[in-house]
Amino acid sequence: MARSYKKASLVDRLKRRTRYEGECWLWTGRKLPPFGYGQITSNGKTLLVHRVAHEQLIGPIPQGLNVLHRCDRAACWNPAHLFTGTHADNVADMVAKGRHYHGERHHWYGVPHALQCQ
Ligand SMILES: [Zn+2]
Repeated sequence: MARSYKKASLVDRLKRRTRYEGECWLWTGRKLPPFGYGQITSNGKTLLVHRVAHEQLIGPIPQGLNVLHRCDRAACWNPAHLFTGTHADNVADMVAKGRHYHGERHHWYGVPHALQCQ
């Protein structure tokens, strides 16, 4: 079916622009500053690579959840490194990993809500 072909080709497009570094599959294409999430365009829509990888290789992302990285590398799309969680989980995860900033340096500062939940 056309739909499944399209899905396969999206993953193929990811693979063509990936640098394998240890366990991580790092997207080498366009990235979303300042976070470094990979971006890919499909049917005129800009998608986040790690979310595409989750949807294509793991399954649908529950509504309202973010796709987070176990490996802490925003450009990575190895499905083994992805998991879903809430914004609060993400912040707790960052605090646990010592990446917590306050004020303007906060990871999520100024990020529109719509983008966080994309
Ligand atoms: Zn990784």
